[in-house]
Amino acid sequence: MKYRFVVVGGGVYGCALAWHLARRGEKVVVLEAAEIASGSSGGIGQRGVRANRRAAAELPLMRLAYPLWERLADDLGADIGYERTGGLNLVEQDVTGTTGGLASLRARTWHQREHGIPTEVLDHEQVREYEPGVADAVRAALWCPLDGTADHTATTRAFAAAAMAAGAVIREHTEVTRLVREGGRVSAVELADGERIDVGEAVVLLNNTGVADLAAGLDVPLPLWWLVPQVLTVKAAGPVCRHLIGHDHRVLSMKPLDGSVMISGGWRGRWNPDTQRGEPIQDNVDRNIAEARAVFPALADTIVDRVDTSSAETCSVDALPIVDLLPTAGNVLIGTGWSGHGFAIAPAVATLLADWLTGHPRPDALLPFRYSRFRTPAVRSRSHDVSH
Ligand SMILES: Cc1cc2nc3c(=O)[nH]c(=O)nc-3n(C[C@H](O)[C@H](O)[C@H](O)COP(=O)(O)OP(=O)(O)OC[C@H]3O[C@@H](n4cnc5c(N)ncnc54)[C@H](O)[C@@H]3O)c2cc1C
Repeated sequence: MKYRFVVVGGGVYGCALAWHLARRGEKVVVLEAAEIASGSSGGIGQRGVRANRRAAAELPLMRLAYPLWERLADDLGADIGYERTGGLNLVEQDVTGTTGGLASLRARTWHQREHGIPTEVLDHEQVREYEPGVADAVRAALWCPLDGTADHTATTRAFAAAAMAAGAVIREHTEVTRLVREGGRVSAVELADGERIDVGEAVVLLNNTGVADLAAGLDVPLPLWWLVPQVLTVKAAGPVCRHLIGHDHRVLSMKPLDGSVMISGGWRGRWNPDTQRGEPIQDNVDRNIAEARAVFPALADTIVDRVDTSSAETCSVDALPIVDLLPTAGNVLIGTGWSGHGFAIAPAVATLLADWLTGHPRPDALLPFRYSRFRTPAVRSRSHDVSH
């Protein structure tokens, strides 16, 4: 069987890209080792759709993504649980390292606005109007009214359903084990059961933690590793927080759910190689809930309802994704290294990838994510960067 585009990975990226390509009449297949939304794009709770305090290189992507999120449920014809709650990044300290604190707020506001991200500084009293339950220690916040949350699992499944309705083929329980290179391009992908699928135009590796191994098979080392982020929920009798919450110096993120609160922010579980799943580390659960209680005292008597450390996510050395063609195979495009914040920008990145794959030049908004940023000039000049 031959497809013009072979997409590896059925997470939010693979499914969104397949939808865009299929809508343009392209013949595309998605190969997913397990099930749709079984990786980072699935699991409990919601994901933040956030520009606030995002890396500068990703702000243009969030500016593109905001209007896409606004109409995505209509475009996909599905409930994706998207809500524009607004997002608060809470500040308690004068200075936080070299990157934050009250001292940084004016500069950050200017910078985010410069990138088209509406941003305001709120003082303590104003924060209290938005979040009446916030602790006295919170002295200010950066407020982004266009930030929000969405149901990542529902969004990913909705992309997959829309892709299939538009003509894409999605194969679950189909693991890609090898890319078959002929000359400077990949001509086929090999599956775990030995089946080969021929590639017409391009292979797109959007299989998150699996990209590095497949790229290594084409002699391209990627500066990536992966981990299992921790998410927990607590039941709450009344609303604890009403907005997407981030924090300037605490490892903390919170999202209001129906009847509960989701708490995360960067704590980790541990990978169990026997079960091939992530499992919680109690100390990290305790520390995550302690951070939340310090900021929202009403959480003092709540107990943890659910803990999820099952999804693995890839991180890169500069905490930015790698979105590029591989230097050793000019028809292999990769998107990985989302470093814990890939969901919100996915609708924008998928649109840009579809443009690029169907004959447009490499989109400017993807330039900061080139693989060549990791190489020395001498190595860069030896590799050829094939693009349309
Ligand atoms: C707990 C947690 C909280 C997060 N919070 C946020 C947030 O608030 N905001 C935000 O923007 N982002 C957040 N992220 C990050 C975001 O969810 C991810 O960056 C994004 O979902 C990655 O999507 P993906 O499609 O690249 O990967 P995945 O969803 O992991 O999909 C990759 C798929 O590839 C499949 N696969 C792997 N290898 C192969 C192979 N060889 N052959 C075939 N298939 C293969 C896997 O089974 C998997 O289904 C969070 C992530 C986690 C884990």
